[in-house]
Amino acid sequence: MKVNCDQLAGLLPDFFDGDLSREQSDAAIDHLATCASCRLTVDELEGVRTLASDHGRLELPPESKERIRRSLGLS
Ligand SMILES: [Zn+2]
Repeated sequence: MKVNCDQLAGLLPDFFDGDLSREQSDAAIDHLATCASCRLTVDELEGVRTLASDHGRLELPPESKERIRRSLGLS
């Protein structure tokens, strides 16, 4: 499975919630590995989510966070 930028944007909310299938999640990570502009988008989104969870409203599942960090080369 391959996704383009538009499709990735559609997957991101579920990606952050950990609701994607394995295949969708792998496709999202594959895309992020090759697309700098989408990495930037995820970075911003993750920042927003992290900020929100600091206020106790949203919690990013540790597994998603880990996968995102790894896909972004942050860990
Ligand atoms: Zn992209």
